[in-house]
Amino acid sequence: MLYADLAARFEELEATGSRLEMASILSDFFKGMDARDIRSVVYLSQGKLRPDFHGVELGMSDRLVLRSISSAAGVPLGKTEKLWIELGDPGLVAERLIAVKKQTTLFSEPLTLARVIRNLEAIESADGRDSQTKKTKLLAQLLHDSSPVEARFLCRIVTGRMRVGAGAMTILDALAEAFAGKEDRPLIERGYNITCDLGLIAETLATEGLEGVESIKVAVGSPLKVMLAERLPSVEQILERMGGRCAMEYKYDGIRVQAHISAGEVRLYSRRLEDLTSNFPDVAAALAAGCRVKDAIIEGECVAVDRDTGAMLPFQTVTHRRKKHGMEQAVRDIPVRIFMFDMVYADGEDLTARPYEERRRALAESFEIGGQVELTKMRVVGSVEEGLAFFNEALEDKCEGIMAKSLAEDSVYRAGSRGFLWVKYKRDYESALTDSFDLAVVGAFFGMGKRTGGYGALLMASFDEDTGMFCTVCKLGTGFDDGFLAGMPALLDDGLSETRPRSVDAKMTPDVWFEPTVVLEVVAAEISKSPVHTAASALTGDGSGLGLRFPRFTGRVRDDKEPDQCTSVQEIHGMYLLQDRGGSETGE
Ligand code: AMP
Repeated sequence: MLYADLAARFEELEATGSRLEMASILSDFFKGMDARDIRSVVYLSQGKLRPDFHGVELGMSDRLVLRSISSAAGVPLGKTEKLWIELGDPGLVAERLIAVKKQTTLFSEPLTLARVIRNLEAIESADGRDSQTKKTKLLAQLLHDSSPVEARFLCRIVTGRMRVGAGAMTILDALAEAFAGKEDRPLIERGYNITCDLGLIAETLATEGLEGVESIKVAVGSPLKVMLAERLPSVEQILERMGGRCAMEYKYDGIRVQAHISAGEVRLYSRRLEDLTSNFPDVAAALAAGCRVKDAIIEGECVAVDRDTGAMLPFQTVTHRRKKHGMEQAVRDIPVRIFMFDMVYADGEDLTARPYEERRRALAESFEIGGQVELTKMRVVGSVEEGLAFFNEALEDKCEGIMAKSLAEDSVYRAGSRGFLWVKYKRDYESALTDSFDLAVVGAFFGMGKRTGGYGALLMASFDEDTGMFCTVCKLGTGFDDGFLAGMPALLDDGLSETRPRSVDAKMTPDVWFEPTVVLEVVAAEISKSPVHTAASALTGDGSGLGLRFPRFTGRVRDDKEPDQCTSVQEIHGMYLLQDRGGSETGE
């Protein structure tokens, strides 16, 4: 395939705002291509060379890319840098300068997809002292033979700025349209949810059809999308929903990890699919030592504990283990335990379709429990009194609340989906609402008074699971301490966008826009209808959106959550409907 074909599709995708149209552009493209190319095409549409959990990045800084552009376009670096300051995006700089060069150069060799992939792989693996020079050269070779549009997308890919709007859900729609039927979409999505590898799903569909995708199994080394919980405002409603009886587990306030164990080797993944093994080497070693089966995939929450008393410490303590530097010291200073709560694979067997009790039994039997490896505390409850007693015990033991889990026959592990098989119930002392919200930052307003010169307030959004859009729910200006205010530009400015990002639905216009990448935890007093916010406007019935009243930042940056894992528009709408019924229940 010629890379020019792919770049032309990227341009078409960029020009449309409609998800339907994007899916149809992609599906036509998939249908017409050689099946051997589809895997790379899918990764590149998302600006990647391979799935996220491989954790490798092309990692070229803007400055390095400017050097490649200068060399390929035959323009002095100073001029390229000046243009970059003006345009802000190396992709646009490359497009402009390559266009000028094309007017005088008659010959260049057309770029094939295979050659682009070869050079990008070499850029990815370049290391050692002269790695920067190597990367610059490899990119310059490609830019030399690029058209202006091809150059624009190459530079966006290597700098991690590829945002043509091809989200995972759109690509799955396109794959269903190209190789199966709409009705097969859930089966295809299941394949993606248990592998987190869109390229693999696309290639399997193109070569083996739907049957191939159906036979994809959970496998050690390939993380699954995690199962998520719904929320309800009272223990009474939880029991009602679960048929009068359910398992309740402590809801620990730590970092969720998925452990893949194979013949004594352990890899730990976060819910964002980052490899956390080097952050929790002690937990990995304890799991390897305590595991009685050959292969396993389990899930648990890593929580920091007091060295002397074993008491659980607040979330902020365990986050020190996510630091890039000083990890050895952090491992020595901050003891961590893993509280395991699920097992989705054991000794060659996929357990995701087994009911909760079977999975829990398999988990308990597969590990030596004790020391750093624990099971979540669990009790089966059959009355509101028992449920409230367990909830209060959880709070006394410094947990956030409880997770209720269905005991029904169909209480399977639903990778990647949120449902009422698991229901969370938390107590938030500072808020009238029973729960906090994890919201994506999509914009900022410049500060006034004491905050002049920096950002004063942020525009926050929730994720609409139906449309894939980020819809605004509040303007957040409270709860920031001086340190956070000073650090805001460093935290947010990587995602700066000159115009409203294509994935953001907003009526308000902030001073600056951000691509949704940073998630913050927010509490609020109430959810109310709002003429200025866009969340849930399709659900409220009268077209008005929902907004949070008196929002306040809790101080917690949810860097363990992808923006599309933030509190959804659908959840906020559900909470809005429940808000006036019942309210919070504390058992006091
Ligand atoms: P939230 O992040 O508020 O949506 O709550 C869901 C998170 O609670 C999960 O992703 C886990 O990280 C965490 N968690 C803590 N304890 C448990 C448990 N016993 N079962 C499942 N998840 C738990």
